[in-house]
Amino acid sequence: FLTATAAYVVQLYLYKCACLKWEEVSIMDEKNIPIRTYQVCNVLEPNQNNWLRTDWIPRSGAQRVYVEVKFTLRDCNSLPGVTGTCKETFNLYYHESNEDRESYIKESSFIKVDTVAADESFTQVDVGDRIMKLNTEVRDVKVTTRKGFYLAFQDVGACIALVSVRVFYKTCPLTVRNLATFPDTITGADTSSLVEVRGSCVNQSEEREEPKMYCGADGEWLVPIGGCLCNPGYEERGGACKACRAGFYKAKSTDPGCAKCPPHSHSLRDGATICDCHAGFFRADTDPPSMACTQPPSAPQQLISVVNETSVVLEWTPPHRLGGRSDTSYNFPRPGSAGGSVSSSQFCAPCGSDVLFSPGQTGLTTTRVVVSELRAHTHYTFIVHARNGVSQASGAGAAQSVSVSVTTNQAAPSPVSSIQATDVTRHSLSLSWQQPDRPNGVILEYEVKFYEKDQRERSYRIMRTFSRSVDVTGLNPLTVYVFHVRARTAAGYGEFSTPFEFSTNSDPFPLIGEGVNSAFLLLSVSGVGILLLISAAVFIISRRRSKYSKTKQDSEEEKHLNPGVKIYVDPFTYEDPDQAIHEFAKEIDVSSIHIEKVIGMGEFGEVCSGRLRVQGKREIYVAIKSLKAGYSDKQRRDFLSEASIMGQFDHPNIIRLEGVVTRCKPLMIITEYMENGSLDAFLRKHDGQFTVIQLVGMLRGIASGMKYLSDMNYVHRDLAARNILVNSNLVCKVSDFGLSRVLEDDPEATGTYLSPGGKIPIRWTAPEAIAYRKFTTASDVWSYGIVMWEVVSYGERPYWDMNNQDVIKAIEEGYRLPAPMDCPVVLHQLMLDCWERDRAERPTFSQILNMLDKLIRNPGTLRRTGGERYLQCTKAKTEISSSKVWSLCEWLQSIGLERYRDTLAAAGYTSLDSLLALTHQIEVEIMNPR
Ligand code: AMP
Repeated sequence: FLTATAAYVVQLYLYKCACLKWEEVSIMDEKNIPIRTYQVCNVLEPNQNNWLRTDWIPRSGAQRVYVEVKFTLRDCNSLPGVTGTCKETFNLYYHESNEDRESYIKESSFIKVDTVAADESFTQVDVGDRIMKLNTEVRDVKVTTRKGFYLAFQDVGACIALVSVRVFYKTCPLTVRNLATFPDTITGADTSSLVEVRGSCVNQSEEREEPKMYCGADGEWLVPIGGCLCNPGYEERGGACKACRAGFYKAKSTDPGCAKCPPHSHSLRDGATICDCHAGFFRADTDPPSMACTQPPSAPQQLISVVNETSVVLEWTPPHRLGGRSDTSYNFPRPGSAGGSVSSSQFCAPCGSDVLFSPGQTGLTTTRVVVSELRAHTHYTFIVHARNGVSQASGAGAAQSVSVSVTTNQAAPSPVSSIQATDVTRHSLSLSWQQPDRPNGVILEYEVKFYEKDQRERSYRIMRTFSRSVDVTGLNPLTVYVFHVRARTAAGYGEFSTPFEFSTNSDPFPLIGEGVNSAFLLLSVSGVGILLLISAAVFIISRRRSKYSKTKQDSEEEKHLNPGVKIYVDPFTYEDPDQAIHEFAKEIDVSSIHIEKVIGMGEFGEVCSGRLRVQGKREIYVAIKSLKAGYSDKQRRDFLSEASIMGQFDHPNIIRLEGVVTRCKPLMIITEYMENGSLDAFLRKHDGQFTVIQLVGMLRGIASGMKYLSDMNYVHRDLAARNILVNSNLVCKVSDFGLSRVLEDDPEATGTYLSPGGKIPIRWTAPEAIAYRKFTTASDVWSYGIVMWEVVSYGERPYWDMNNQDVIKAIEEGYRLPAPMDCPVVLHQLMLDCWERDRAERPTFSQILNMLDKLIRNPGTLRRTGGERYLQCTKAKTEISSSKVWSLCEWLQSIGLERYRDTLAAAGYTSLDSLLALTHQIEVEIMNPR
């Protein structure tokens, strides 16, 4: 017997109470079905008190029960003679009890629920001849204290028939709301009470927010709060969580539903929380499941290196294939770390931690990095690794890397630090310091500059030492001195240290330590003054004597004072020749060299041409000199010494060393390729084909290269057209730097003249070098004059077929090569200047260069030539070779100036000797008469 919201049916037990006025009577209902009723109808007697009680009704957890009573009640008006005694109501009572079989309950134990009156709306029931109205009344009672209760009906004088009593309680039925299940819940005790109920998540779901609802007194669910979400791999369908189908996935419970697998991925089974990547595709840990599967990038491309002293700028272009991602980054893996070592060579060591990568070594998003703080003149291999989010997952390694090898340049040493003064006296102190942090090569010496603080740098002194300390003497007492120290390597001077100030004291002896070492006593300030005076005098005198001297001295001074001016280092000063070669030359991997053809024969073996491809650089043509098999240690050393020397030079008119191969045989020296070979042969091949300006251009190049060498304090000793190489642009470059061969192995020297130290190419060599091996830049200038002559005469052999002894003699006697045919007078004059007997009178290469530059700027000056002179000279040369003594006339004729014979005679110069005593200025006047 249920209502829409009620869920509990109680059996109705009606028992007659002790008073027997209630009767159980069978009657027919309106459908003529017999029903049992309890009736009482004592309307004529006053003071009725008739009770009818139910059996014990278990409460079953209910807190409020509803009692629905169906009954009929006679209208008192329809009964005659009952006025005053007839009632139209009855009372409903209850009694709570744990006892299910109480036989006797006192009236007073019952609590009244209500007085029930008949309703006005009646259903008519035909009971015999009477029309009765069936009433339905419902009352609710709070029952909370015992396990059950009894109900009782009290009649106080009505005519009543109880047709049915239904007792029930209300529940909120089991329900699913927001994916949470709420159980069947008994309503609260009071009509206004709400029972708070916590829901539990349905299968395959998880709590989003605690699911709650309230069960109202009427059995209705109210105010749902919170709820659940389907687990990953499941979506809500019809209030339940159902698995995603194959090909679909749901990664998070908060995702709205199952989604199709992203590109390059799939799911084969139902309930996928993520789709698996297709073979060869990957997903990074941080990639969302909705992202397509991707691939690692290919290697970076076109890695280019630009070396700037001890820094390298590395640039590359992004990988050809980015793998479908936009998070490509670049790393320079540290050795030993995943991705490989910094170098592929077994000889390479890892870069130190002091090497700086800017903007960084890992995680670069730019395609350019500047690597600094590298060691000078050191071979480095850099590996750039392209990575993206799936590189690690894919385990890809070498395929994503590109490497480049570079050799850093020489660099001046860094400043010295930690200068200290000890053993301080009134006139002296000992200065010591630390080696520069970055020597960048072998420290050849230290230079200490110091001055009185008051004097600033107006007057200072310089000391040089090989050790890291020096005793400074000759100081003034109680005077503050400022000291600067700098180091010099093959690359030149480094920066001076920051100033270090120290004061002498008034003590004659040092407080601690030994006394002053007088052997180190240097020039005092006054000494410097005297020296300056002498220098000034020498300077003025030499200026008067020679137009070339001043600049020469200036440049020498510059060399000592300018930091960073490179000084050539003799590789033979290294005990280990391999140290020298690796300090100055780059080791080349033999696999990057492709030899094409033999182009000449060198002293140590064939000379070939070929191509060199260094990674990250464009392929270039090179000349490859190799050391033939079966060489001795000395030959190996001599062969490599040329590279050690060449490697120190960097000038457009000096043949450029690309590198060496020393780690496998044959040993090779790789230089730039000079298409037109050696200058002498080239000129002979193209006799008369160039303009004067072109010839002067070649000479200018050679002079420029020689100036560079002389600035570096390098003396070539074998400067000759055969040792100049010419490229396709007619650029001339000085080559042949083998030290020993200069003296012993040049064919021009072999068997010709053996000086105490070796053989000398007589025709190109200055007299003082022949006589007592005084090889200097000035003797190179002499040779340069001969090269000028070779160039202008298109490869003619100097002094033609004269033998060496005759050449030496002729030079001794003042003979000089005449101007070649069509030789501009100024050029021949320059040659004669180079052939000054007194080497101090010869121009410097810097002056020669200036002169040639002027000529090139004013080609008109080149127009004047000696005309017929060449023929006369040719004739003269036979005379010279046979004659013992030259007259002034012959000499003038030989150099094309015989027209000045009378002028000279008039001036008192009648012999060659008297003329040779002339100063240069007079010669110039003669050459350029007003
Ligand atoms: P060397 O050993 O320097 O005397 O070289 C022998 C010959 O090889 C030279 O006379 C040149 O003809 C040729 N040769 C040497 N070096 C080069 C080069 N860098 N480029 C072209 N030819 C060269």
